[in-house]
Amino acid sequence: MKTMSHLNHDLPPFALTTSTHGINGHALGHEADGQNSELLAPGEAQAAIEGAVRQILEAIGEDPERQGLLRTPTRVAHAYAELTAGYTTDPVALINDAVFDVDYDEMVLVKDIDFFSLCEHHLLPFMGRAHVAYIPNGKVIGLSKIPRIVEMFARRLQVQERMTLQIADFLQETLQPQGVAVVVEGQHMCAAMRGVKKANARMTTSAMLGSFKHNPQTRGEFLDHIARQPHR
Ligand SMILES: [Zn+2]
Repeated sequence: MKTMSHLNHDLPPFALTTSTHGINGHALGHEADGQNSELLAPGEAQAAIEGAVRQILEAIGEDPERQGLLRTPTRVAHAYAELTAGYTTDPVALINDAVFDVDYDEMVLVKDIDFFSLCEHHLLPFMGRAHVAYIPNGKVIGLSKIPRIVEMFARRLQVQERMTLQIADFLQETLQPQGVAVVVEGQHMCAAMRGVKKANARMTTSAMLGSFKHNPQTRGEFLDHIARQPHR
């Protein structure tokens, strides 16, 4: 059993491309939800977001011309480009030849992967930690790639349930392992700051595939490991 605790902030930003070709011939970037079918060019997107933010500022009774707000539309547009970069991340470039043939069939676990995402219902952040495990079937992936896979799916408008499944499905498709397990713990600002105002409520979602689904002992081993406090 290999384990690794990981924080995202030491990762360099990865290259963005506009390719939508997934691995094994499947489009993994923009699938299923019908999202993002008409991507604007970066300059157009920037201008569109700036205009929309100016309108929001006016609609809430602010003066977009006052000094503190003058560059706010531009800043927000830049922030959105970063926070939604997962739509244009090329999964093939992301994996970048980091899949290796290795004769290792014990569980590989990367826990405590920090993530930040935006809920698609309110465009407010939700954030937390993801724990990802798989049991290889002749192929392993470089450990640093797993936090990047989480990030690719987090940097989109999401619901936590779908993000959890997408991470698991991506690993399943990439590695064809014996099993994949993903548990995500998230705190949702739309529940903390507004509506029910449950500031500390956390949501846990999980996806278990292959041996993690069918073998209670394997699943138990994974859940024991993620429940264990890190040594500090
Ligand atoms: Zn929400």
